[in-house]
Amino acid sequence: MSDEEQTPIRLSFEFFPPKTDNGREKLKSVRQELNKLNPDFFSVTYGAGGSTRDNTKGIVKAMKDEGMSVAPHLSFGGDDEDSMVELLAEYKEYGVNRIVALRGDMPSGVGGGLQLVYANELVAFIEKHFPGQFELEVAAYPEIHPEAPSYVEDIRFLKQKLDAGASSAITQYFFNPDAYFYFIDECAKEGIDKPIYPGIMPITNYRNLARFSDNCGAEIPRWIRKRLESCGDNVESITATGTEIVTELCETLLDGGAPGLHFYTMNQIEPTSTIINNLDLVDLE
Ligand code: FAD
Repeated sequence: MSDEEQTPIRLSFEFFPPKTDNGREKLKSVRQELNKLNPDFFSVTYGAGGSTRDNTKGIVKAMKDEGMSVAPHLSFGGDDEDSMVELLAEYKEYGVNRIVALRGDMPSGVGGGLQLVYANELVAFIEKHFPGQFELEVAAYPEIHPEAPSYVEDIRFLKQKLDAGASSAITQYFFNPDAYFYFIDECAKEGIDKPIYPGIMPITNYRNLARFSDNCGAEIPRWIRKRLESCGDNVESITATGTEIVTELCETLLDGGAPGLHFYTMNQIEPTSTIINNLDLVDLE
């Protein structure tokens, strides 16, 4: 296939909303730097139970004002239908045209009263109130969501979300490309024909990553654990090794037909920027 015939890959970068002025100021320079890599869009997470509602909204508004394409993450959390419609209308006013629709998790310390709304219901809700006005993304889990009743049912629930009106899915991060490729094949067997973009987690802090991965059901293969453990507390060595491993993962995914990459940047320019440069995807002129 010649260069011209190749479908350009979709690139997106995820941020979380900082809690402090200092963090917000820092994120401003991070996004301006990452914007030079020509992402298709940025996304901004939404805290469990809507805990970052105003912070998420503030960052999204600031980024729209800077002319960036940005997709807020959204879940019902504890909100009622009226406040969800209000928030979506505000996003519309800002010029937002893409939403990452999620069930989210129970905020810590919240008792039995709060009922989480499944993502397929949120997608249907958005489509009902704002038909065709937002491009909707949903989450997918190549290593299967920790609460899923079974592998096959998790895929059926993914199909439900897509059938309700989402146009594509972004995956939880993973380090084993076979898990993604197998998942894609199984999704196709269930009749899913919409793109599923791999979520990529750059490696910088092994201890945090190991703890977080246990919670969200993402597996760090033994060889990666051993390799990173041997770096000890040497941050430079962990980052260099992690960057090499994640660059190779991205290459394998793209060579195997992944339609793009979604980076969990952790609000940092590096190592996301180096990984993308390693992949030689964009002309940085
Ligand atoms: P759902 O698709 O609703 O699925 C949740 C669970 O219920 C799964 O186990 C599924 O198998 C099962 N299920 C689904 N539908 C049904 C049904 N109809 N009946 C019975 N069972 C069902 N979390 C945040 O708090 N904020 C964020 O900004 C955020 N961003 C994320 C972005 C991405 C790309 C990803 C992959 C995850 C993100 N998360 C975020 C984490 C996510 O909120 C959690 O993984 C959450 O537990 C599930 O959300 P979901 O939208 O995948 O849920």
